[in-house]
Amino acid sequence: MSHITFLGATGQVTGSCYLIEACGRRILLDCGLFQGGKETEKQNTEDFSFEPSSVDAVILSHAHLDHCGRLPKLVKEGFNGPVYLTAASFPLLDLMLKDAAHLQFKDTEWENRRRERAGKEPIEPLFDLENVEALLKFRKSVNYGEASQIAPDIEVSFHEAGHILGSSIIKISLKEKGETRVLVFSGDLGNPKSPLLRDPAVMTEADVLL
Ligand SMILES: [Zn+2]
Repeated sequence: MSHITFLGATGQVTGSCYLIEACGRRILLDCGLFQGGKETEKQNTEDFSFEPSSVDAVILSHAHLDHCGRLPKLVKEGFNGPVYLTAASFPLLDLMLKDAAHLQFKDTEWENRRRERAGKEPIEPLFDLENVEALLKFRKSVNYGEASQIAPDIEVSFHEAGHILGSSIIKISLKEKGETRVLVFSGDLGNPKSPLLRDPAVMTEADVLL
């Protein structure tokens, strides 16, 4: 039986992260940063509630940091599987995460100067450029509408979401005991400035809509 765990905190829109346990695999859907104030962001430093090395693959909806920003941390802590994403997200992820690593470095430097004055131990950044480079090597680019077999009984396809370049609605088909269940992850839909231009057919196929 498949099992889906929402790992973002309840009532929060950032830190998007779902763990899907199905067909004997563990698939992570997004691995975003918590953003918005010190208290919320403290959650970024907490351990994952699962063992990163036990995750078989990651599926990424789009390259905004609240959906991809903890991926380098995931790699730093042992994940070493493929990260499926759209062809347009592929270069964008590089840009976003390197920029984030730079900010992490600056923030940590600033915080450590403050801590030194207060006689406190220095802290480490959440991740660094090396972790980002390691993560980027795991990217697997997929075209919109193309089905990818990511495990013997798990098929994934990406469909345009009109949110940012490369953003997608993700359809996951899980075959278990001869039955196929379709899980659709809507991610972030649309752009407030432009009407949604997409085919909603994917949504109507869903057994589970996230
Ligand atoms: Zn977004």
